Amino acid sequence: MSTPGTILREIHRLRKNAKDLSTRIDQGPKQQQLQKDKVARQEQILKQAQDELKQSKVKAHAKEVSLKSIDEQIKKYEKQLNDIMSKKEYDALKHELSHSRDKVAKIEDEILAVLTEIEERAAKLPELEKNLKDTKAQAEQLARDYETRMADLANQHKEVTARLAEVEKTLPEDIKAPYDRLIRVMGEDALAAVEGNVCASCYTEITPQNQTELRRSLFVLCKSCGRMLYLPES
Ligand SMILES: [Zn+2]
Repeated sequence: MSTPGTILREIHRLRKNAKDLSTRIDQGPKQQQLQKDKVARQEQILKQAQDELKQSKVKAHAKEVSLKSIDEQIKKYEKQLNDIMSKKEYDALKHELSHSRDKVAKIEDEILAVLTEIEERAAKLPELEKNLKDTKAQAEQLARDYETRMADLANQHKEVTARLAEVEKTLPEDIKAPYDRLIRVMGEDALAAVEGNVCASCYTEITPQNQTELRRSLFVLCKSCGRMLYLPES
């Protein structure tokens, strides 16, 4: 025969269970979104690395083009040297040539630096591609399991709620009204176990009289927090 104490204990267990299940059901879409965000972030990181590599390649190309045009200019100057008549023209041309050759050396150094940069940036890509692939696979796996997991949680919730309704029906008539009122206000938090001599919710000590009443399976409210008390399973 169930006493109010054991009924309330079972109700509290079921209500906490139901609350936990609905929390997990609520979190489902959020977790889905988190996975999508993770994939988007990895995509963004990869795209940025690809863009940087592209920029380096464009830079290298531009430098090679200007190197080529200076080389052509140098060839022109060298040809002109043969047709020079005056010393003044010769000196000016020699000056231009030396200036152009300095520029060539400088651009060649810069090209070397950009080629190193390209190599480094290209070397990073495989790992980033792998990260994206792994994150996508993980997200797809979760998405595949999602429907099943959600349906399973919903089923469990339904079962717990049905069981709760059954157990609530067995509450003695005189407890029903205060029980309903407290549940309406506080939900599953309207119940508290007594652990030791203390209300497990507000940690206030239970009076000896209440202890006795609880042992006799009477309906007892915590004098401090007003929760419905029950003794834990002995
Ligand atoms: Zn209390």
